[in-house]
Amino acid sequence: MAAEVLDGRALARRIEDELRAEVDTFVGMFRRRPKLVVVLVGDLAASASYVKSKAAAAARVGIDSEVVGVPGTTTTEELISLVRDIAVGRQGPADGILVQLPLPVHVDTVAVLDAVPPDQDVDGFHPHNAGLLSQGRPQFVPCTAAGVQRLLIDAGVETAGKHAVIVGRSDIVGKPLALLLAAKPPRTAAPGQGGGCDATVTICHSRSADLAAITRQADILVAAVGRPKLITAGMVKPGATVIDVGINRVDGKLVGDVDFGPVCEVAGKITPVPGGVGPLTVAMLLANTLLAAELRAQRG
Ligand code: NAD
Repeated sequence: MAAEVLDGRALARRIEDELRAEVDTFVGMFRRRPKLVVVLVGDLAASASYVKSKAAAAARVGIDSEVVGVPGTTTTEELISLVRDIAVGRQGPADGILVQLPLPVHVDTVAVLDAVPPDQDVDGFHPHNAGLLSQGRPQFVPCTAAGVQRLLIDAGVETAGKHAVIVGRSDIVGKPLALLLAAKPPRTAAPGQGGGCDATVTICHSRSADLAAITRQADILVAAVGRPKLITAGMVKPGATVIDVGINRVDGKLVGDVDFGPVCEVAGKITPVPGGVGPLTVAMLLANTLLAAELRAQRG
């Protein structure tokens, strides 16, 4: 039987509807709109396209956004100084700051991301926010991990006591998602604030031995690698929920890490690429930006 395909676009539209109402309330109270500033370095077409879709989504819910574009030759020190200027509002007030990745190879990405103050870190990459998440008291949760969690909740996927296998151990996706899935409830926290899911979590990576033997044990299987067709039908337990985070371009088309057609015949639920996790990542960014605006308003 073919798996139920989880429609990330439809869920993202519903989250946007909720956020639009919350932004209206914020505007009514504070007489200004939340603002997101995105730093775009260089002229990578994929990055420009992601930034465009984030700005369009922000506009749909009433969040102001600004893209600060700088040449690909910009140095680490110049970028740190730019981020600090944006943070203190020298370029106009910013609630949330996002540095679009990847940065050029000559740039120290960690140093630049660390320059984003934790209260404006809507990507949730700062060590302060990573630390809070690891202690089960999250402030800003990385958007893709939060989006996967929201998708599981919305699809009614039982997580408590279930075995979740995450393939990929990055700081951006795999690790924060593992923390969210393993954490104690409440799992009904607001989008972007991440309650726990009570799952038993295994993280796999490029050096994991016999990957298929591990993935076949998963009730919830998440692929976050960046390799087309890495997850084949034989690696999936019948009835499992399969979440495909991967984004790969093959013959000009976007595909995930999962061999979608054959895996559909085995899985119980599955996300497509495109139209699965991607739209939720953007929706969670908007939720985090509103949260950043609320925190700033509280600080006065
Ligand atoms: P990354 O390159 O930082 O990490 C990839 C991970 O995969 C590593 O931990 C590595 O150990 C593991 N890996 C590599 N080869 C493997 C193999 N053969 N078997 C098992 N594990 C293997 O990537 P990332 O930033 O975490 O992104 C992963 C994928 O998710 C990419 O395709 C990226 O484009 C996509 N992504 C999508 C969204 C979205 O919104 N849908 C957001 C972020 C990233």
